[in-house]
Amino acid sequence: MNRPPAPSWSTTPAWPLASASRSISDDIGNCRPLSACEAGAPERHHCGEDLAAPAGTVVLSTAAGTVVAIDPAWYRGTSMLLLQTADGPAVVYGEIAPDSWREFGVAEGVAVGRGVPLARVGRFNHLHFETYAAGTRRTYQWPWGTEPPAPLRDAVAYLRAASGEPARPVPDSNAKDGGGGLLVLVFAALMGGWL
Ligand SMILES: [Zn+2]
Repeated sequence: MNRPPAPSWSTTPAWPLASASRSISDDIGNCRPLSACEAGAPERHHCGEDLAAPAGTVVLSTAAGTVVAIDPAWYRGTSMLLLQTADGPAVVYGEIAPDSWREFGVAEGVAVGRGVPLARVGRFNHLHFETYAAGTRRTYQWPWGTEPPAPLRDAVAYLRAASGEPARPVPDSNAKDGGGGLLVLVFAALMGGWL
């Protein structure tokens, strides 16, 4: 199983939440990283990165662009907004609070600047964040054990750029031999020594 390719972008993205936290997918509770197993019928891979934040937290545009799609009934009482950035990926804000975009004057076809409010986090206390190739106008599902959908992009590098963190190795959440976990442990130990 391969990870999807990273997206490309030119303007440094803004962090997509109005919160102090910059953590990306701890894989605890209801918060999962890209490619993790998403229970369902049938099971599938998680297409996004979950960013923990209390319900109601304002979500922000990562870059200037245009809101090209809104799905009010996207997933179990939450909605989805798709932003086509002007110089990068199509960005999916998933599991947002229904109708929360209206407060900010956001609707399909509205152009927005970088770092402006778009909506609010929904009932699951995280933002489900996906990136796709520019021009994508919908979300995709990724059936378990298959290659990623062609338009899907790996949101991790994009989010790390937004968070101001340097790029670092991405653990494979599906690794069965523990090798990836060991690398992460070594990395964490090194970072612990430096900070
Ligand atoms: Zn998610």
